[in-house]
Amino acid sequence: MSEIRDVIVIGSGPAGYTAALYAARAQLKPLLFGSSIFVGGALTTTTEVENFPGFPDGVDGPVLMENMRAQAEKFGAEMVDDDIVSVDLTGSVKELTDSQGTVHRAKAVIVATGSGYRKLGLPREDELSGRGVSWCATCDGFFFKGRDIVVVGGGDTAMEEATFLTRFASSVTVVHRRSALRASQVMQNRAFADDKISFAFESEIAEIKEEGGLLSGLVLRDTFTGKTRDLDATGLFIAIGHDPRTELFTGQLELDHEGYLKVDAPSTRTNIPGVFAAGDVVDHTYRQAITAAGTGCAAALDAERYLAALT
Ligand code: FAD
Repeated sequence: MSEIRDVIVIGSGPAGYTAALYAARAQLKPLLFGSSIFVGGALTTTTEVENFPGFPDGVDGPVLMENMRAQAEKFGAEMVDDDIVSVDLTGSVKELTDSQGTVHRAKAVIVATGSGYRKLGLPREDELSGRGVSWCATCDGFFFKGRDIVVVGGGDTAMEEATFLTRFASSVTVVHRRSALRASQVMQNRAFADDKISFAFESEIAEIKEEGGLLSGLVLRDTFTGKTRDLDATGLFIAIGHDPRTELFTGQLELDHEGYLKVDAPSTRTNIPGVFAAGDVVDHTYRQAITAAGTGCAAALDAERYLAALT
């Protein structure tokens, strides 16, 4: 039988690494599982991060994540680049199984598995991430000053992104597959009233064009007739939703109607004592590295208090 740890963290994004840093500095010797193929989380898929405090000249996303990891390791956090593939969180000692079949035990678990941005599934979409293709206007809008931008999606997030992007863009075209938006009326009204925003309904992106490693244009397809047309744009924001990584916890941890983990906010406590959750796996609203790091810190402090109360 493996030793019983104080804390195991699942996830290697800003939330997981920050939780590990705080737990390590509290002498809890955390063990962190950070995935076998996607170590470092969402920021490793981007280039320049300009809104993480403390870096006046910006910081490369992968470098920021390596630094977060090194800082947690410096204080004794132990990192394993492997996936947790099943969990039993119900008892006072939690059991987590890695991909090799080894069972790890802990009194407290911090879940920081993040969420995945839904993709269009088109060629060049991934390769041009950070080079014209983005999933986050708050993160990247600033890089698109004076450019013609397309936002894909018809929900509240798409309208919010489109409206926000008019601060920077020359024009914003909202591309939506259906003939009507799903967004709330108030969000729709705001977007319709904005002179910089136009709409391409019953349309989808058929092709992303590339030149010199950057997005250079788009081809739209009419979902009704199948006809295609070129669209001059050098920015593509994809706002078709997120999938929180919660499959592992279904049936044990409470999820909300969109599949995010439910916590007893403002704490990070889930419905199971000793299990805490932080970052984008909980967060519908902000989805930023700094907010993920903030709740990661809170989860470690909540776990620390939980463990102290056990003794
Ligand atoms: P994530 O960063 O998603 O990390 C979760 C990690 O947990 C992943 O590595 C995942 O593989 C791992 N994991 C999941 N399940 C398991 C498991 N079962 N076992 C082990 N590991 C597991 N935010 C900003 O503030 N500024 C920006 O400029 C910015 N730019 C962005 C650019 C892009 C392209 C993207 C995609 C996001 C950007 N964001 C930015 C958003 C930011 O990256 C996220 O809000 C943040 O990373 C969320 O952190 P997290 O720790 O909750 O999850």
